[in-house]
Amino acid sequence: MTDITAETRGPGRNPAAPGAGRTVASAVPRSLVARLARGVTASGTERQETVAPFTGEPLADLPQSGVADVETAFELARRAQQAWAAVPVQRRAAVLLRFHDLLLKRQDEVLDLIQAETGKARLHAFDEVLSAALAARHYGRSASGYLRDRRRGGAVPVLTHTLEGRRPKGVIGLISPWNFPLELSVSDALPAFAAGNAVVNKPDTQTALTALWARELLIEAGLPADLWQIVVGDGPVVGPAVVERADYVSFTGSTRTGREVAQRAAARLVGASLELGGKNAMLVLADADLDRAAEGAVRACFRSAGQLCISIERLYVHRSVADAFLARFVARTRTMRLGSGLAYGADMGSLTSAKQLETVVRHVEEAVKAGAEVLTGGQTRPELGPFFFEPTILDGVTPQMAVCEEETFGPVVSIYRFDTEEEAIEAANATPYGLNSSVWTRDQRRGRAVAARLHTGTVNVNEGYAAAYGSVASPMGGMGESGVGRRHGAEGILRFTEAQTIASQRVMPLAPAFGLSEERFAALFTRALRMAKAVGLK
Ligand code: NAD
Repeated sequence: MTDITAETRGPGRNPAAPGAGRTVASAVPRSLVARLARGVTASGTERQETVAPFTGEPLADLPQSGVADVETAFELARRAQQAWAAVPVQRRAAVLLRFHDLLLKRQDEVLDLIQAETGKARLHAFDEVLSAALAARHYGRSASGYLRDRRRGGAVPVLTHTLEGRRPKGVIGLISPWNFPLELSVSDALPAFAAGNAVVNKPDTQTALTALWARELLIEAGLPADLWQIVVGDGPVVGPAVVERADYVSFTGSTRTGREVAQRAAARLVGASLELGGKNAMLVLADADLDRAAEGAVRACFRSAGQLCISIERLYVHRSVADAFLARFVARTRTMRLGSGLAYGADMGSLTSAKQLETVVRHVEEAVKAGAEVLTGGQTRPELGPFFFEPTILDGVTPQMAVCEEETFGPVVSIYRFDTEEEAIEAANATPYGLNSSVWTRDQRRGRAVAARLHTGTVNVNEGYAAAYGSVASPMGGMGESGVGRRHGAEGILRFTEAQTIASQRVMPLAPAFGLSEERFAALFTRALRMAKAVGLK
């Protein structure tokens, strides 16, 4: 147990952030919902109402797509894609750069929508604008480089001229969750469009307005309207209908659903990238700057109320600095202001749904009953909104508790102490997941050496998650049960293409010719092979 002082022990109570004056109802009026809803490909009369997490009041009444609408969406997308693939890549990429500028200019509109649909604090909603803009700039500037034809060594030097090209897959099925509604539709859709594809996107119904807004903006930036189809509806019905028709699937969501999507895609022999869950670890080494590490831990654990796939839920601290670190981390966490204002100022917002709140409460209550100690937080805050839960630090968590190994996807972190680096690395790796991790040390070189031994797709040294996620020129994704494939970087766009090799043979065929006997041909090629190796050909 910790030896932190009496003042830092016990639940405490996070202050409320000042209100912002504007209400969700005034920021997202019915007229806006009606306009955005026209972007859904749906022909029936079925509708579904979403709820604003800040208040629990109705937010949007959205049309629901059926399987026939998914079919229509694919037909429209397929037709639009034929023409789009013929547009030179520089012109396609220019749409992304215009989108970048429009997004920055009109960010307040989407910040309101993201907050209204997810309940996150405005600064956390801004994270999405930031990462979407980074992806737009990166692929806007780099798509033509990633996609250009590349000269490769031919079967026979000089006689075989070989080019490797990249062709669009066709129509991408893009299925996204509710936690980062702008980022997780745009950062995958943009490289897909730049590579010459169309997209049929199924966002989560709860956050469909944000995706619909992004689609409108991209059309304003020059994207042909039919190229991005949005279908909204029940996940287990509409999701499989998308996977059944897609030429490639880009899925972000839970490991459980990801497995199902992978099986369906495999049966059709189409590729899929799967960005799934995590139980991410942070290591605070003995030489870490504890003030920076504590501040970093607050960001890494409680950003978007912990509803972030790469956020930290397991925190390993070297025993020699554990008390000093915890005193800082707990004290800082207690000062976090919780609020639902549609303005900057709150340090954390609400959870997005009753279901999320249920999981968080279950994990914490179960752990406490089994002997875990709440260092701070641990309470719902119904006076702030129906799904608010305090940022929570647990100590004394053991493997029997669900919070130890299952993804909570909420503002809850468990503390563990270690004596040696080996022990910390082993504990961090002892999970089937492998999404993100974080190492804190004053010695950057040591940090990178530890990082290389962690089994996660991204590792951040002296940062929780943002340094790696924001490095959009470099791949991001999960090892193990955290996923297959990567977004960002070369892999983030090349996954939406088929490689095609075009080889033209000149002068002589790759067979006996010009009266050459088969024996002479074999002898000639044997000599040529030896020579090619000797001169260093690859
Ligand atoms: P989820 O798997 O329940 O849903 C994700 C999407 O899949 C939704 O649009 C849903 O409607 C749809 N869906 C549901 N059933 C389906 C089916 N049978 N076939 C096809 N699609 C179906 O996940 P969630 O709860 O919405 O999202 C939270 C999860 O997403 C967490 O586990 C989180 O870690 C993960 N996530 C991962 C990343 C990443 O980049 N690795 C990013 C964000 C979230």
